[in-house]
Amino acid sequence: MSDIARIVSEIAEEMRQRPDRGDVATYIPQLARVDPNAFGIAVVDAAGNVAAAGDCEVPFSIQSISKVFTLTLALGKVGEGLWTRVGREPSGSPFNSVVQLEYEHGIPRNPFINAGAIAVTDVILSGHQPREALGEILRFMQFLSDDRSIYIDEAVAKSEKATGFRNIALANYMKSFGVLENPVDFTLGVYFHHCAIAMSCRQLAMAGRFLAMHGFNPTTGCPVVPDGRARRINAIMLTCGHYDGSGEFAYRVGLPGKSGVGGGILAVAPGKASIAVWSPGLDATGNSHLGRIALERLTKAMGWSIFGA
Ligand code: GLN
Repeated sequence: MSDIARIVSEIAEEMRQRPDRGDVATYIPQLARVDPNAFGIAVVDAAGNVAAAGDCEVPFSIQSISKVFTLTLALGKVGEGLWTRVGREPSGSPFNSVVQLEYEHGIPRNPFINAGAIAVTDVILSGHQPREALGEILRFMQFLSDDRSIYIDEAVAKSEKATGFRNIALANYMKSFGVLENPVDFTLGVYFHHCAIAMSCRQLAMAGRFLAMHGFNPTTGCPVVPDGRARRINAIMLTCGHYDGSGEFAYRVGLPGKSGVGGGILAVAPGKASIAVWSPGLDATGNSHLGRIALERLTKAMGWSIFGA
């Protein structure tokens, strides 16, 4: 057994036994049904070896982790012009905060808070029907993971649509400033559905490889994005990927990472590995409690922190 495989199974076993599991998100009713005892981890290294343990094959709701991929698509579509629609500074506020938008005239702080991700979705949607835009996002995930079985969990999308009053408010507010080009319903429909993509840790770690490998998809050997763009997406993941918990995540884990309220985290060790963890219980900042602890254990054991071993 390789070192990584041994460490990954030790971490899974340790996390399975821990009593402190955080609280599963309940504001999207369908997410509240998930087993809080689940824990999965998958690591794909630079050579393409996969080390995975626990519930690594169980699909979960990736939620805000999808925002890394919609950001990638939007940058591909409109290039650096995207930054006139959304900023790239950490927000220091919760993911669904309303106050900052008013101060900043409807321009969201960064592409990973909800308002920013809704604006990014709007960019992808322009010129397309919602169904086409959503198809493009889903196919991108399937292509990156090299796995056609990745799907959208309609029950989760419906559940969020029925209760997503805060996101509806954020989107309408941005629309009033002219930040959204498309009908609010259309943009939100695509947003709720891409948040409802279901993937396993293994699929997600595969999808993150291009960020760890200088923009390349190792399966095809072709670039997904230029090297410089992968570096910049990683920078935004490091500074904004965990909302007002981003500083703590950088301090403890030392890797670019993106969390979702489904309890997943995608983390990138540049040049070394793409890592996905999943534990549904969240901490007070809405990030996976055990997911972060597991990543802290992994980066320490492997010496993978970008700030030094
Ligand atoms: N779909 C969720 C929402 O908009 C995503 C939030 C998250 O994962 N942090 O509220």
